[in-house]
Amino acid sequence: MSPLPRALAALAPIPQVAKAAATIPNQLLNLLFPTRCAGCGQMGELFCPACLAQVQPVPPPVCLRCGRPVASAGRCEGCAAGQFYVSAIRGAALYADPLAQAIHRFKYEGRPELHAPLGELLAGYWRGRSVTVDLVAAVPLHAKRLAERGFNQSDLLATVLCSQVQLPCVQPGVFCRTRETQQQMLLGSVERRANVQDAFAWRGPPLGGCKVLLIDDVATTGSTLEACAQALLAAGAGKVWALTVARALGGPGTAP
Ligand SMILES: [Zn+2]
Ligand SMILES: [Zn+2]
Repeated sequence: MSPLPRALAALAPIPQVAKAAATIPNQLLNLLFPTRCAGCGQMGELFCPACLAQVQPVPPPVCLRCGRPVASAGRCEGCAAGQFYVSAIRGAALYADPLAQAIHRFKYEGRPELHAPLGELLAGYWRGRSVTVDLVAAVPLHAKRLAERGFNQSDLLATVLCSQVQLPCVQPGVFCRTRETQQQMLLGSVERRANVQDAFAWRGPPLGGCKVLLIDDVATTGSTLEACAQALLAAGAGKVWALTVARALGGPGTAP
């Protein structure tokens, strides 16, 4: 990891995540609203050990670029034929239940606290790799969507990853979604590309050849990651990689 230019470092501190203290109000809250596992609904944990044990890695070998399973090592047909902004996409796990269910609850059922176990999956994956990056950036939400949801799931995931593995994380608002886009899960692959084209902008200092790791919850066609990477490369990034909690293998419409 090369030292970041000072202007950039100021916008991307290594986050410190404090452990929630077991205060009396917290204990009381747990009594009144017991935690339920986001996978199976059992009471007690955010994501229980039985559900965690069902989380599967993407079966190797995977395409060097898109991270989908391939018959033999190398690039899949689509990646061998095309040119891409994201150098490589990896999913910490396969997009399947109970993880898919947990991600759905995290994003659409107002359970931001699930960033902790889901972010831990990213950190676990990253610890096993030898790749280095200079900067971590979350896929941004548009301000309107952020106001509706109350949190950006990718920001929360990136914060867990960065605090666990000590990487600088771009603060919210520096990398932006400049226009409203439709939910990708409702669209086909061609429409997905058009939906997010030119929707992102880097508002920080030039990226000066930095290697950037993009974080999102799920990769399906990779269109959102591509549009983000295009904006980051235009701002001077040297390379862009992407890591998501889950890698969906199905076609468009199978994952959020
Ligand atoms: Zn469970
Ligand atoms: Zn591929």
